[in-house]
Amino acid sequence: MKKIALLGATGSIGTNTVDVVLAYPERFQIVSLTFHSNSDKGAQLIEQLKPQYVGVGSQAMKTDLASRFPEVEFGVGETGLVKAATLEAVDVVLTAVTGSVGLNPTMAAIDAGKNIALANKETLVMAGQWVMAAALKKNVTILPVDSEHSAIFQCLQGQKEGSVKELVITASGGSFRDLTREELESVTLEQALKHPNWSMGKKITIDSSTMMNKGLEVIEAHWLFGTDYDKIKVVLHKESIVHSMIVLKDGAYLAQLGPSDMREPIQYALTYPTRLPIKNEKKFDLTEIGQLNFEPMDFDRFPMLALAFTVGKKGGAYPTVYNAANEIAATAFIEGKISYLQIEQLVQRAVDNYSETTEVTLTEVIEIDKQTRTIVERWIKEEGQL
Ligand code: NDP
Ligand code: MG
Repeated sequence: MKKIALLGATGSIGTNTVDVVLAYPERFQIVSLTFHSNSDKGAQLIEQLKPQYVGVGSQAMKTDLASRFPEVEFGVGETGLVKAATLEAVDVVLTAVTGSVGLNPTMAAIDAGKNIALANKETLVMAGQWVMAAALKKNVTILPVDSEHSAIFQCLQGQKEGSVKELVITASGGSFRDLTREELESVTLEQALKHPNWSMGKKITIDSSTMMNKGLEVIEAHWLFGTDYDKIKVVLHKESIVHSMIVLKDGAYLAQLGPSDMREPIQYALTYPTRLPIKNEKKFDLTEIGQLNFEPMDFDRFPMLALAFTVGKKGGAYPTVYNAANEIAATAFIEGKISYLQIEQLVQRAVDNYSETTEVTLTEVIEIDKQTRTIVERWIKEEGQL
């Protein structure tokens, strides 16, 4: 029986994880979970999964739920996330919260020797160097949940060290892939939230349209697989059937294909190296799909992808600034405070505004993350709508 801590249980990845867990009750048990604001769904999950420990977003929520579920222990905010992730019984922590709030519980879990199934890419972008070093030190495995990284990880199985030439990450292009930059000026939140292939949380759906998501994934791949940025390529693949590829030294391409169903990478991360059937599998027929298309990425059309390579190569806290600015900007767009193109402008401005002279520590990175958020929030207040 694998005992799981599910951080971000009420979200899109959280819901898919619960599906996987409930399909194999003899194999998996969720012993702790967290959610932030959705207490109705959270209460349903507590009834259904009967966890020992639950982390919630506020004291009021804790008081309410503790009276309804006296047998469960509750915690609030970051303390709740950390406790859920480090509970004695936990074998693996599935990190499915949105944003860099995932960093502290992930680091605490690694420190406590828990394996990580990582969906929360922002954590690795913000502090990949420290997360990977801690995992190595504690002999902890970090298994990717993100579909592209799971695909690469699957292709890498059995490959000898030194035999891989490149990683090729595929990008669907997001909701605005067919619009020109001029046409982006007047797009709405509703339009941005319509992803052509995947159903996901709001922030990642916006990130997919700005290509921030692919940028974050490039940095995520750099840390997960220890691959130089020059050896990470991105191609536009509108069908989202090939989840990603690797290129071997001899020129062979290995690709992983499948339906757009996050239960697959989630289940693989939880059962690795074993394979199990997916319950209620999505229909997937390549002869019906017929064609797979690949196009070069247009870095002028998607400047946030180009910026990912720039900040990634600069290293230090540059990716932290890139991510933090985007978290604030994407949220501000979701809340109707800024226009769509202001997301990119704010991220670019935050990166331009930052300069690093010496090596940074993890403590400094956490501080830089906070400072960036404050600065970008101030810019949004000062400028309002463009
Ligand atoms: P959702 O927005 O659907 O869910 C986010 C989860 O995190 C919810 O449970 C939410 O709780 C919780 N949460 C939000 N803010 C906080 C906070 N400040 N403190 C603690 N918990 C919080 O996101 P997704 O499931 O789409 O994405 C989760 C992560 O997985 C992201 O990092 C994303 O990039 C990554 N990912 C997602 C994919 C997908 O298909 N969705 C694919 C690949 C990666 P509540 O709802 O109760 O407020
Ligand atoms: Mg992805």
